[in-house]
Amino acid sequence: MSVSSKVIEQTEKYGAHNYNPLPIVVSEAEGVWVKDPEGNKYMDMLSAYSAVNQGHRHPKIIQALKDQADRVTLTSRAFHNDQLGPWYEKVSQLTKKEMVLPMNTGAEAVETAFKAARRWAYDVKGVADDQAEIIACNGNFHGRTMGAVSLSSDPEYKRGFGPMLPGIKLIPYGDIEALKQAITPNTAAFLIEPIQGEAGIIIPPEGFMKAARELCRENNVLFIADEIQAGLCRTGKMFACEWEDIDPDMYILGKALGGGVFPISCIVANRDVLEVFNPGSHGSTFGGNPMACAVSLAALDVLIDEKLADRSLELGNYFMDALRDINHPSIKEVRGRGLFIGMELTEAARPYCEELKELGLLCKETHDTVIRFAPPLIITKEELDWSIEKIKKVFTI
Ligand code: PLP
Repeated sequence: MSVSSKVIEQTEKYGAHNYNPLPIVVSEAEGVWVKDPEGNKYMDMLSAYSAVNQGHRHPKIIQALKDQADRVTLTSRAFHNDQLGPWYEKVSQLTKKEMVLPMNTGAEAVETAFKAARRWAYDVKGVADDQAEIIACNGNFHGRTMGAVSLSSDPEYKRGFGPMLPGIKLIPYGDIEALKQAITPNTAAFLIEPIQGEAGIIIPPEGFMKAARELCRENNVLFIADEIQAGLCRTGKMFACEWEDIDPDMYILGKALGGGVFPISCIVANRDVLEVFNPGSHGSTFGGNPMACAVSLAALDVLIDEKLADRSLELGNYFMDALRDINHPSIKEVRGRGLFIGMELTEAARPYCEELKELGLLCKETHDTVIRFAPPLIITKEELDWSIEKIKKVFTI
């Protein structure tokens, strides 16, 4: 029995079945490439759902990890640590927001945004106790915690987990009239992914984000952008909100914030919002730990120094053009921004992903009929050409 088969068997036997992975075991990785224990090489076109934008094991990020591991790894927030201040300042400058609140995973940061918005509604906006409402969009994905699944419109994410959190309204993604109708004096926040990733790389109609932002401003409603997947260069801009020149009241960040090396997430906003938190109101043992901050400082440097936003934009356009040139009756649409690309099929995407895996290309279906192509942003044009050849092979009539 191969090492891979044994590992898959163990995983299936002892692990809860809350995922349905492709049958490949990764035991090594570098840049855009991963290897299984048998030495087979594959190109990673998923980037751990955009957490590995900087490429696997980027040397500068790994060095930061090693250096920090030799100094101090965890202090808790009971004490200060010497990495948190510099990291706060960097994230604040990057986002042009005054304050940062660190957590670990994306879903935790979404929870934090949820709490911030509710408390802001009571303490600043003057909403009556327990009446605050949050508006989110159909098709959203904000994570798997109770707050995040309460926001979801997908019955499968919620089944058997009720009761859900109250005070949530959903509108169709991109429907400005519906947003207008949904806002009441009790609305604390409008929460939106500037591009819906898990829903299948869905881009809102042009002008929607700007109009929604304006509507929120007029009604004293916080505009919160969940850029956990779309942010940090993935769409060809540092933040996907830049596509419509939007300055949200709050960003939620995660994934590539830790360079695919260490989990770190955060919310960022101005003082008038984040000052609603006082000692004892929120926290996390690992949130803001020095390992995560040191890694994140390096991860952000890589995004900036290697101009990964520009690279994503340029190579994304090149890649999308090539994908659109493929003539196959099952391809319904190729859409995306930068290297955040969805290929929508008229049939199930999973068999195509399995075939691509056989050819050495790892990608994952999302929402049954969409193949997401989201390689690490350090990918070269030559590597993209290699992948295009494989994709063409799978879509040969
Ligand atoms: N928000 C968005 C937009 C995401 O894409 C994800 C993860 O895919 C999350 C939140 C949840 O992040 P995590 O899986 O780190 O909890």
